[in-house]
Amino acid sequence: MVTLPSGTSMNVCPSAGICAQLCFARQGTYRFSNVRAAHMGDLLLTVDDALPRFEEMMSEELQHRRYRGRFVRLHDAGDFHSRAYLKAWLRIMDSAPEDVSFYCYTKEVCL
Ligand code: SF4
Repeated sequence: MVTLPSGTSMNVCPSAGICAQLCFARQGTYRFSNVRAAHMGDLLLTVDDALPRFEEMMSEELQHRRYRGRFVRLHDAGDFHSRAYLKAWLRIMDSAPEDVSFYCYTKEVCL
């Protein structure tokens, strides 16, 4: 659970179990203010009205040649927090060049 700048709480790992109590993303460098700010900025791009812009930016970014023949990991913390967000990623992956591969770790097997 994270608190957005608006003050509302958001569960970024809806299917997390016991791991949420010991989550690596609550420790170490993840607690640095600059790291937290960067992650919050990324998260805010994936919610509500910002999501279409996130999809557009990621689709554009993945056209760059540096990703060709590479594996791109989705998320370094958090998970697919909504069906809309998951579907955006599916479209982003579909729009990427064929030699760009993706992987992620997720507990959202039911979305
Ligand atoms: S980031 Fe990973 S370890 Fe942390 S709560 Fe989410 S699923 Fe669990």
